[in-house]
Amino acid sequence: MLFTDSHCHFDFPEFSGLRTDIARQIRELGVHRIIVPGVSAAHWQRQFDTCRQFAPCYFAFGIHPWWVEDAKEEDLTLLPDYLLHNKVIAVGEIGLDAKIDNMAKQQEFFQAQLAIARSADLPVLIHHRRTHHLIQPLLKQYALPRGGVIHAYSGSFQQAMTYVELGFKLGVGGTITYERAQKTRDAIARVPLTSLLLETDAPAMPLAGRQGEINSPAYLPEVFRQLCQLRSEPEDLIAHQLEQNCQQLFSF
Ligand SMILES: [Zn+2]
Repeated sequence: MLFTDSHCHFDFPEFSGLRTDIARQIRELGVHRIIVPGVSAAHWQRQFDTCRQFAPCYFAFGIHPWWVEDAKEEDLTLLPDYLLHNKVIAVGEIGLDAKIDNMAKQQEFFQAQLAIARSADLPVLIHHRRTHHLIQPLLKQYALPRGGVIHAYSGSFQQAMTYVELGFKLGVGGTITYERAQKTRDAIARVPLTSLLLETDAPAMPLAGRQGEINSPAYLPEVFRQLCQLRSEPEDLIAHQLEQNCQQLFSF
């Protein structure tokens, strides 16, 4: 079985000195592709330089809502050039986070990046936190032909289906390994299998039982096994469909 980690910050300093070992380890586990999302213009070049030597790494560039506070208008003008490399498969990570108190600026940068994704003909990687009600109308408005992924999806079945109907996929990660995430587990169990992607969000979002540890793309097969417990389809069919979903969304 082959797997794609559709969201892993492999460039983050937590992985310093570990990348070569992890790259070897994940090859043995069948994790053959990692999508490394961007967070800010100041990090893009280092993100690319740190990870380009690792064959499984593909890239997205974008300004993450946590980094919007320090972002400048000019950063947006640098983005289209970064999107031209042949291992760039999306714009991201972009989105809206209600826990950060600069929603007007977040809205401005999110919308500008949705427009850039549309002109670059790329899908988007979307960060959300208590913002489904703000993100969904914007996705309707911008109607990106390539869609994207709602990274680390958490929310209800209804909200999930709204994204699916807009042509978006849902990123399934460590959240589903927590018993208490009942609403999200129920949503992931019921949406069409064609709408799901696997991710770790490493080094963040440790799986249940690994709290306090650095998360790793090597744990992606564990996320997969947890997903299989929630779904009714056979394991090999699930694995095959998840890879198809990645291929269809990102056109590797
Ligand atoms: Zn992320």
